[in-house]
Order: sequence, then structure tokens, then C-alpha cells
Amino acid sequence: MMKIIQHSRPTVGKEEMSAVQRVVKSAYLSMGQEVASLEKEMASRLKMKGAAAVSSGTAALHLALAGLKIGPGDEVILPTYVCTALLNAVHYVGAKPVLADVRLADGNIDPRDVAQRINPRTRAIIVPHMFGFPADIKALLELGVPLIEDCAQSAGALIGKKPVGSFGRVSVFSFYATKMMACGEGGMLASSDEAVLAEARTLLEYDHQPEYRVRFNYKMTDLQASLGRVQLKRLPSMVKARQKIAAAYCKALGRAPVELPAVPKGVTPSFYRFVIRVKDPAAVIAAMKKQGIMAERPLFKPLHDYLGLSGYPSADRLKQESVSLPIYPSLSRQEFEKIKKSLLGVLDKLG
Ligand SMILES: *Cc1c(COP(=O)(O)O)cnc(C)c1O
Repeated sequence: MMKIIQHSRPTVGKEEMSAVQRVVKSAYLSMGQEVASLEKEMASRLKMKGAAAVSSGTAALHLALAGLKIGPGDEVILPTYVCTALLNAVHYVGAKPVLADVRLADGNIDPRDVAQRINPRTRAIIVPHMFGFPADIKALLELGVPLIEDCAQSAGALIGKKPVGSFGRVSVFSFYATKMMACGEGGMLASSDEAVLAEARTLLEYDHQPEYRVRFNYKMTDLQASLGRVQLKRLPSMVKARQKIAAAYCKALGRAPVELPAVPKGVTPSFYRFVIRVKDPAAVIAAMKKQGIMAERPLFKPLHDYLGLSGYPSADRLKQESVSLPIYPSLSRQEFEKIKKSLLGVLDKLG
């Protein structure tokens, strides 16, 4: 039987196992000390005043918007080339989503396109660092609208020497199974704005509250947090491993008919994904799959397609040309060589 090379795979081992065991032994399974510790460790890494752990990245986005008191009548700008989680969060608070186009070079929200969509109702810009590549935070900060940094794909990436997630009014993370830090499911919101933190904290838990208002059950469990703490500790080495694979891809594909990801000056990507652009992604993906290698389209569908909107030429091109190759710390040298051989062969055949 052919051994399949997965498109993505979490990197978990003995340390994660014993962390979970420690929690099970304690018989304190929901939100407790492990969650509190993970919050402290994340906030301190980001040099933010505080952090609130939640059940998913989507929940973190929802509470970031709610924490900024965004609601009906308000507008939130977000890129179209992103998963529907962002759109859902904007709808949860009843605000109007306004889609912006992205930059062809890295798939990140385009500050010039954003600038044209700002009006007096604009309350926030959600800025994902796509595929682990830092967005143009400097240009976005200059627009003067509060930023929600979406670091779901980019924990461990740096802008200068500072980690992504330390620039926005609020930043959010996802700890879904195949993200940079894996807890199965989970998320985090971090901020130095006390009002945002207080609002997020009161909304994420319905019990032990002095007064009634509509709240949520967005709690993270100690089981998840114990995994997250190990993954946070391992993050720098996991990012290094991804960067090494990325460098090997760049070397292998240097003369191939593909567009490689461009790394802007002064940033360190986390290489959550290694996305190349080719003429016929469907053919490349199908041919590699026949050889047991799971390459994928990096995004199911841009948001403007779901909403029946047009006028997003860069996102359209990325949709038509992008292929995401396997990249994760546990990808072996042997597996990499097999991918390289397969991909070069396929590109050669397709011309
Ligand atoms: C995965 C992801 C989310 C959603 O996180 P969940 O934990 O799956 O809810 C939000 N934004 C981006 C950019 C993501 O990649």
C-alpha cells in the first residue's frame, strides 16, 4: 500500500502526552490553572496586558469585535481571500462586513484597497497574516482604524524582532489541530486594552456572574491548555523546522515554472503554508495525489464568491493559480525528497 504524505499534520509527542496525563490525573478538566498559565505565557510573549483563552479562533474573533463594542450599524473591513470564520464573526455581532482585495505577492490584505473602503462607520480592520506571512502592519496602522490582528496562521512569525499579535488593538489566535500550535480546538485573544479584556472575559463564561446578560460558553479546557503550553514552548523550534523546509522548497523550485512565495524585507514568516502559483493547479494537485502526495488549494473559496460580489482581481488570481504544498515540522527528509521529485516531474510533464 502507498504511504500517503498528508497536506498537514500536528507535531505532538511525549511531552504533550504527559501534559494531558497530568491534567487527567488532577481530575480538574475544565477551565482552571492550566488555562490561567497559558493566558499568562501568551500575554507575556506578546507583551500585552492580558489574554483570554477561548474555545476557538472564531470565538476569539467574536469576542474581539464584541470587546470593541462593535455592533449593528458598524462596518468591519476584512480581506476577501480568507476563510469564512472571519465573516461569521462579523455577522455574530450584527455588523456589516466590507471586503478588501489582497496583494498578489503574499495574499495579505492590501492597505491601499482598504484605504478606499474606510468611512465614518468603519470600526475595525481584521488583519490575518496569511499563510504565516506578516501583513503590512505599518501601512495598516497608519490608516488610524483599530486593527484586530488575526494570528491564526502565524503564531511564531515576526515583524522586525516583535512577534505578530503584538501590534493590533486586539489579536486573536487559533489552536485548531493543524494550526501553528495544536490543542485540538482552541483560541486566544490578547490585548492591552483593559476594557476589551474585561468585556471578553465576562462574555466567555455564563456562570458566576453578578447580573444577567446574554453570554456565551467559550471556555477553553485545562486539557487543551496543557497541550497549548507545551506547543508554545516548542513554537520557536517548530517555526525553525518549517523555515528549513521552506528554504529547501525554494532551492528545489528555483528554476521551475512556478511563482514562489515572496518574503518582504524585515519580516520572519512562520511558513504555516508553502503556497506556490502555477498555471494549472488542478492538474498539479491531481497528479501529485496519484503519487500519494496531498497538495491542496490553500483556500476553499474567497468570501466575495460566497457573497456574489466582484471586483477583487488579485484574490481571483490567487484562487485560480495557488497550490499549497505539505510543510510541517514532522515532514521527513525522505518525504520531502519524494514531494520534490513528484512536483518537478509533474511540472515538467505539464510544460
Ligand atoms: C483557522 C482560522 C480561523 C478560525 O479559527 P478556528 O479555531 O478554526 O475557529 C480564523 N482566521 C484564520 C486566518 C484562520 O486560519
